[in-house]
Amino acid sequence: MIIKGQATVVKHTGSHYLLSRLPEWDMFPAVLRGKIRLKGSTATNPVAVGDVVNFEAEVPEGVAEQELAAYVTSENTAVITSVEPRRNYIIRKSTNLSRQSHIIAANLDRAFIIATIDYPEIKLPFLDRLLVTCEVYNVPVTIVLNKVDLYRESHKEMLEAFHEIYEGAGYTVLEVSALTGDGVEELREACRGHVSLFSGVSGVGKSSLIKALDPSLEPKVGEISDVHLQGKHTTTFYEMYSLTSGGFIVDTPGLRGFGLVDLKKEEIALYFPEMLKVAQDCRFTPCTHTHEPGCAVKEAVEAGEISYDRYSSYLGMLDEEGKYR
Ligand code: GDP
Ligand code: ZN
Repeated sequence: MIIKGQATVVKHTGSHYLLSRLPEWDMFPAVLRGKIRLKGSTATNPVAVGDVVNFEAEVPEGVAEQELAAYVTSENTAVITSVEPRRNYIIRKSTNLSRQSHIIAANLDRAFIIATIDYPEIKLPFLDRLLVTCEVYNVPVTIVLNKVDLYRESHKEMLEAFHEIYEGAGYTVLEVSALTGDGVEELREACRGHVSLFSGVSGVGKSSLIKALDPSLEPKVGEISDVHLQGKHTTTFYEMYSLTSGGFIVDTPGLRGFGLVDLKKEEIALYFPEMLKVAQDCRFTPCTHTHEPGCAVKEAVEAGEISYDRYSSYLGMLDEEGKYR
């Protein structure tokens, strides 16, 4: 007997997938039927973690739909027949030069960018790049400052300035400590009922934080070299975890977490929410917000309404765009 249904991809390794009928956590293995290609996609992986797929599974006569996972094994896998359209997704480029991209995860309710003011020191231009990437792909972002036990007192002013910059730009900034548990309940609450991406440079305490959220989890992200892609680099396989307190998280590895997308110069400012808000008042359209007279963005920066750090990240991105084309 064949059962047809819909499920979410929770793990992807090579040609094997694990599916689960979220919000149930009833994982069962699946493979792709033939070649599934998404229209216009240049991605190296047609199906990614978070994708909602249609599947078929062969089970003994009389097995109820809810019991399916018990009968679908690695010898008798389900077959993915098609992929539902994505609400959003996050990609990274295979290399800077390559046109190919790798989809990290799809259908995300939120991305949590884990950072630290110090230990390791935060690099604002890098953070701004991650934020732009999330804006481009329509994934709401929350910034999580971890290790506040280490610097809440010693870097008081930097911490305040950080809140001002990023809350001023429209982002929520949470302060947490995986070590003391400070703020962890708030983060747990923010994850409940959603699929969230966790990203951050290595060393910021992302793994510690995931364990603090749910001690039963052992986050591991395997870097496996992929011989099918040109050049010397690795392909990472991503995995979704189920939080005991509710919600699902997708862990992504450090720096190579996600790369910037191809943006035209005049598009970049659209993804700085605080610039987008005032840009309609610029005298010229399009305006690069650099040398043009009557530029509302520059005026807002001069008036202190837009953070100079954010503007400076923007200029850096303008400079770099085009380098890799
Ligand atoms: P990851 O590379 O981002 O996964 O970082 P880890 O979770 O491996 O943590 C890196 C280091 O920071 C480890 O030595 C942790 O013990 C430490 N660490 C993580 N979170 C905190 C925290 O909230 N406070 C303090 N003081 N140390 C932390
Ligand atoms: Zn302007």
